[in-house]
Amino acid sequence: MKEESQIKQEREQDWRVSLRNGMKAKDRIAIPRVQMPERDARIRSTNNEEVNLGLTETQAMTEAQRCLDCAKPTCMDGCPVGVNIPTFIKYIEVGNFPAAARTLKQTSALPAVCGRVCPQEKQCEAHCIHLKMKSTAVSIGNLERFAADYERNSGCISVPEVAASKGIKVAAVGSGPAGLSFAGDMAKLGYDVSVFEALHEIGGVLKYGIPVFRLPNEIVDVEIDNLRSMGVKFVKNCIVGKTITIDDLKADGFKGVFVASGAGLPRFMNIPGENLAGVMSSNEYLTRVNLMNAASATSDTPVYTGKKVAVIGGGNTAMDSVRTARRLGAERAMIVYRRSEEEMPARREEIHHAKAEGIDFLTLRNPIAYQGDEKGRVTHMQLQVMELGEADASGRRAPREIPGKTECIEVDEVIVSVGVSPNPLIPQSVSGLDVSKWGTIVVDESSMQSSIPMIFAGGDIVRGGATVILAMGDGRRAAKSMNEWLSKK
Ligand SMILES: Cc1cc2nc3c(=O)[nH]c(=O)nc-3n(C[C@H](O)[C@H](O)[C@H](O)COP(=O)(O)OP(=O)(O)OC[C@H]3O[C@@H](n4cnc5c(N)ncnc54)[C@H](O)[C@@H]3O)c2cc1C
Repeated sequence: MKEESQIKQEREQDWRVSLRNGMKAKDRIAIPRVQMPERDARIRSTNNEEVNLGLTETQAMTEAQRCLDCAKPTCMDGCPVGVNIPTFIKYIEVGNFPAAARTLKQTSALPAVCGRVCPQEKQCEAHCIHLKMKSTAVSIGNLERFAADYERNSGCISVPEVAASKGIKVAAVGSGPAGLSFAGDMAKLGYDVSVFEALHEIGGVLKYGIPVFRLPNEIVDVEIDNLRSMGVKFVKNCIVGKTITIDDLKADGFKGVFVASGAGLPRFMNIPGENLAGVMSSNEYLTRVNLMNAASATSDTPVYTGKKVAVIGGGNTAMDSVRTARRLGAERAMIVYRRSEEEMPARREEIHHAKAEGIDFLTLRNPIAYQGDEKGRVTHMQLQVMELGEADASGRRAPREIPGKTECIEVDEVIVSVGVSPNPLIPQSVSGLDVSKWGTIVVDESSMQSSIPMIFAGGDIVRGGATVILAMGDGRRAAKSMNEWLSKK
């Protein structure tokens, strides 16, 4: 994270930039929030084109004018990686887009990704001063996406400065946002960084989970190439714990290992009929479609393209699955969720997009069994109708059954998206590593160091299923403390 003094200095420069503009606060507040243009829902639900189109230069500069350049920028408190939000927005306001992109890259290894998938409404934008004035928050996420896209499209991609080599090897296990963010920060500090990835693609959930209509692969690839230019090495098809062990890495001269192996183990509900053909986890469904070309009839392992598809769950993964099913030709694509829409953990934008694309929302419904035909293929789901009771530990109103009220609905494909658990291989294969009862790696929260000093961990393997930006924040914290730990050694 940045030093207070450095942030203060940059803020002072901002003030000078903004004073030159001379626009009054009341005029800034009066500007309505610029809406992100998007593709027509009827057309986009039949293809894989990116849904959001991005802001134009004029739209971005207008939206940037809404930023009040607060003396205490509370938006930054809501950013787990500490992006200098007022600075990059001021640069956009004055039309210096490359400088805006450079500012983002000082603290974020993946700005074009974060601008697209971060739940800004719960993070930076939730702290925007506009909300206290009964106005809408500045579109920080849309502006972040604009600046990162501008730089990428300009072809002049700035590579962050890298310190002179320390000649010390460190490893990241897993190439999702936690591993990539760690790799970027360690490379900047002059370490020789290698990222080991089990799959044949780099990017973790950014590639195998989030569909291209929300996050195009080429955007992730440019950010990964940026890390390559900084000297980061990537080793694909390498399962740490099987292909090689952490002891092998140690023997090979790696002085620190950051475990960022994510939470890719799907959960099921253990209800009758869950093993019928046509019932699968969202992890399997999305991975096959996104990474194995399984939507294509020419694929060696094509995925069944159901016409009546039910997706069980209310998170981002459920929305991604149901919208994918729609694009693969589902005539009726349904979300089945046991609470009401208000309690859904998915981003509001995803819910809005799913509805516009014609997804049915069967809320206050919970599957209790699936039935199949004589070939063992799912044909129906039995739903228990629910109502909301008192708030539970999550703070959301808990669903409870309405006795005797059930429904039976025809389906030919069911995608179960009710949560994930940590990938168990590393927690189970490294002796002496403290692991919680949920299978997450236990770390010191401020340093991300595990019970084995050379092993640090972060992202979903520590938090269970969380978010991209929290995973990146962990990667940054781990890099900072691994550097301190190695420097002391
Ligand atoms: C479909 C879907 C949609 C989502 N949408 C959003 C969203 O819109 N916004 C948001 O903020 N969050 C979203 N999330 C959550 C977010 O993507 C995760 O919280 C985040 O990716 C976690 O990052 P990570 O680096 O910890 O793990 P991951 O991204 O899971 O990456 C872990 C990587 O480690 C690799 N790996 C595992 N074990 C090993 C091993 N033994 N050896 C080598 N490599 C290994 C895996 O193959 C994987 O590539 C979504 C998640 C899913 C599944």
